Amino acid sequence: MARYGYRCTIDGPLEITLPIGTAPATVACPSCGETSARVFSAPMLGLADRGRMAVIDHCETSRDAPDVVSTPAGTPRRSTPTAPPNPAFARLPRP
Ligand SMILES: [Zn+2]
Repeated sequence: MARYGYRCTIDGPLEITLPIGTAPATVACPSCGETSARVFSAPMLGLADRGRMAVIDHCETSRDAPDVVSTPAGTPRRSTPTAPPNPAFARLPRP
């Protein structure tokens, strides 16, 4: 899979992941449906070490879909109170 860049005239740049060699010249923008032309940029070949690339990939992923956290970073964890077990669960069939 590879990321291909397109530019929507309304929403700006967008990236679409497709199998290598299958990128069409234009795609419909996922936001507005407008025809978006393909743009070409320098390829991101894996010249950096894997740890750095993993951090960069994680940062790019969290930009659009951030991880859900319950406490701010650096805050000591507190145990979450749990509900007492429901006795009805013991009667459910086991796999
Ligand atoms: Zn658009």
